[in-house]
Amino acid sequence: MTDLLIRNAAEILTCAADAPDGIGRLPGGSIAISDGLIEAVGEVGARRAHKVIEAAGRVVLPGFVDCHTHVLFGGSRVEEYAARVAGREPPAGAPVGIAGTVRETRRLSTDALVAQALPRLGEMLAHGTTTAESKTGYGLALEAELRMLEANRRLAAGTPVEIVSTLLAAHALPEDMPRDEYVGLIVGRLVPRAAAEGLARFCDAYCDQGYFTLEETQRVLAAGVAHGLAPKLHLDAYSTTGAARLAADLGAASVDHLNFTSPEEAECLGAAGVVAVAMPCLDLAVAHPRPVDVRGLIGAGMTVALATDLCPACHVASMQLVIQLACRLYGLSVAEAIRAATLHAAMALRRDKTVGSLEPGKQADVLVLGVERHEELAYRIGSNLVERVIKRGRVVVER
Ligand code: FE
Repeated sequence: MTDLLIRNAAEILTCAADAPDGIGRLPGGSIAISDGLIEAVGEVGARRAHKVIEAAGRVVLPGFVDCHTHVLFGGSRVEEYAARVAGREPPAGAPVGIAGTVRETRRLSTDALVAQALPRLGEMLAHGTTTAESKTGYGLALEAELRMLEANRRLAAGTPVEIVSTLLAAHALPEDMPRDEYVGLIVGRLVPRAAAEGLARFCDAYCDQGYFTLEETQRVLAAGVAHGLAPKLHLDAYSTTGAARLAADLGAASVDHLNFTSPEEAECLGAAGVVAVAMPCLDLAVAHPRPVDVRGLIGAGMTVALATDLCPACHVASMQLVIQLACRLYGLSVAEAIRAATLHAAMALRRDKTVGSLEPGKQADVLVLGVERHEELAYRIGSNLVERVIKRGRVVVER
């Protein structure tokens, strides 16, 4: 007997890798789920089930994968944001920038860090995110970065959202340590600890003007690779760094931002199979002077994924909003944006064998939307269309 049957949907979007339309749209159809996994999609035949969800008049699609977040942080940068949108300098004493958040984060115990992040994850889940990356990078010191890694482990136990942990010790330069010494600490102590204790899957670095140099980035990512942490990069957000070639050479899982990446570099990344992560809410929240040219990246052969970049500078929890902005700001079709927020985002986290599409054998991470056609996802700007969220076959949100 099937555990859960979702039946008679108006549309099912499988988002399968080989779908000719990109989203595998099946008009009508059902999904059978047992033991947390998908048994069958589309025509599932007559079957008995412990639980049935009637999905008539509804769209059913994979749970969103948010492949770039800084969901763990202390304090708030609301004062800075309010000042910036009005074209003013932030008030004296308000936390500003990464350095401001680092001071606030270092004050927190591991439990406090987790307690502040859980409501953010709850909001993400309510908007359909079933897998999320979570980066360190507001510790910028040995103990404080280890606390963030440990917080990621505890988060995983405290939310239905599946957490993918990334060590981003190379997020910014600490104010209280010379840069050489800090890079040495990352390479010699943090990366080996994170790997040995199974606290991270990826090693990330922020290569840009005012952050880490190409040479430092290379050292950090090479250390990650040597310890089995796959590379990711914050790349070219504010200048062309040349790190795209490094990412291609290392076979990075993803490169994120890409505002100043050249077409030739994008071709090189595309040929190397590196996924591009675009974050339209960040481009909006920081009023970026040069929003990323996503059509150019696709034209250069890159697979594009979408993410919120939830962080103190971009307090966005909804992948639906990300899809909406990606369609209008980047010129993605609705189908391209949905695929980028599911299968491609899973690829950016190297989880596409288990999540990101609705196919037999994959995890049953499923959304039921209270609309009849998927295009509404792009059209209803700012609405939450999610009625039900199913994680590993279990209904975890019902609205
Ligand atoms: Fe980031």
